[in-house]
Amino acid sequence: MNKIFFDKVVSSFFQNRFKKKYRFRNVDDIPKKIDDNTIYIVQEGTEPETLVFMCPCGCQQPVLLNLLKDTHPFWTFQIEKRKISLFPSVIRKKGCHSHYCIKNGTVIWVRSCAV
Ligand SMILES: [Zn+2]
Repeated sequence: MNKIFFDKVVSSFFQNRFKKKYRFRNVDDIPKKIDDNTIYIVQEGTEPETLVFMCPCGCQQPVLLNLLKDTHPFWTFQIEKRKISLFPSVIRKKGCHSHYCIKNGTVIWVRSCAV
């Protein structure tokens, strides 16, 4: 087996193994219990402030992303056909160090992340 083929098999194995999908929900406060497959859009005032979801890698850590443009870093999201996409990708600096995109509700591990 040549190396390129082997790399392809291994990466597709991991892609499938960790293929995870999220739905989304609008909430007005960070929920006490964060569902594994839900991205919460937290909006207290007039605009959404934070996205909260469980890290897709399985590390059991919640991920909080700031949406307010006057605080860096910030993320934006887009909803199309009831599916959520986040920009830019998420890099966890603490803990699991995962790096991924969420596009149309699906986690794309950064190896194949075409943004
Ligand atoms: Zn993680």
